[in-house]
Amino acid sequence: MELKKPVGRFAPTPSGRMHLGNVFAALLAWLAVKSENGTMLLRMEDLDTQRTKPEYAEILRGDLDWLGLTYDQESPPQSTRTNIYRHYVEKLGDMGLLYPCYCTRAQLHSVNAPHQADGTYVYPGTCRNLTPAQQAQFDRAPAWRIMVPDQQWSVTDLIQGQYSENLARDCGDFVVCRGDGAFVYQLAVTVDDGESGVTQVVRGVDLLSSAPRQMYLQKLFGFSHPQYAHVPLLVAPDGRRLSKRDKDMDIGYLRQHLTAPELIGILAQASGLLSAYTPVSPQELIGEFSWDKLKKTDICLDITGVL
Ligand code: GLU
Repeated sequence: MELKKPVGRFAPTPSGRMHLGNVFAALLAWLAVKSENGTMLLRMEDLDTQRTKPEYAEILRGDLDWLGLTYDQESPPQSTRTNIYRHYVEKLGDMGLLYPCYCTRAQLHSVNAPHQADGTYVYPGTCRNLTPAQQAQFDRAPAWRIMVPDQQWSVTDLIQGQYSENLARDCGDFVVCRGDGAFVYQLAVTVDDGESGVTQVVRGVDLLSSAPRQMYLQKLFGFSHPQYAHVPLLVAPDGRRLSKRDKDMDIGYLRQHLTAPELIGILAQASGLLSAYTPVSPQELIGEFSWDKLKKTDICLDITGVL
C-alpha cells in the first residue's frame, strides 16, 4: 500500500511584511510537509481588499524565496474566488442552516454582550428566530450566520494536544457572509483547504479556536478534516509577546542584519529543533525535524543580542 503524501500550505495575508512569528509558522509548515516528501501550496489570503495589496504579495514571495521556503504551486488568491465562496454559502442556505442577522457592530460589542470567562464573545442568537415581518423592518443588508449544533468538536493538535469546543456554548452562530457581501475567513479557508486537498494545517496558535468552526464547515461540505498543528507564540525574554510593532520582528529589518540560515538557526535553536545554534538552511533542517522536539509553550527569543 502506498502511503499518501501530505499536502500543506502557507496562507499569508498580504497586508504587510512578514514578521518572525509568520516566518516560524511557515518554517514548521514547510518542514512538516517536506520531511514526508509532500506538496506545499502558497495561497494569498487577500479577502480583505482594504488591508491587502498585490505589492505585499510580491514582497512575501520574495521573502519566502530568500528564506528558502519553496512552494510547489500557488493557488489562486482568495480575492478571485468570490463566486466559489457564494456557491458554498448557497449550499449552507439550501441545508436550511443560515439566517440573516441585523445586529449592529455596537450591539455585538456592547459590554452587556455575552462573553466567556476569557473574553471570547458568544453570539446569543438574537436574530435566529426573527419572523419575516420583523426582518422586513430593518432597512440594511444583513450578515448571514450559520446555526451551530450543541455539540463538542475536538481537535487532536500535533503541538497543542487535545482542544475541544462546544460550538453552541463556546462560540454561538457565526457569520459566513458579512452585510457588505464579503465572505469571512472561516468560510474561505475551509473551502480553499478542502478544494485543494490540504491534509495538514500548520499555523499560529492564535487560530486554534478557529479549528472547531472550520471542522464543522468541513463536515457540512464533505471535506476530510486535515491534521492540525498550532505553533506556539514567540515571546521576548521579559515575557512580552513579540508583535508586528516590534521592529526586531519585521523580516525587512531582519534581512538587513542576518542571513537566512542565521535567522533559521536562531528559530531552530529557540524552538528545540536544534540543541545548539548553528546557521542552517530549511533543507538541512529536514533531518532534524520532529514534532516531539518542538517546545509546546511560548518560545522565548532574544534576538536583540544577535542584531
Ligand atoms: N491568513 C492567516 C494569517 O495570515 C492564516 C490563516 C490560516 O493559516 O488558516 O494569519
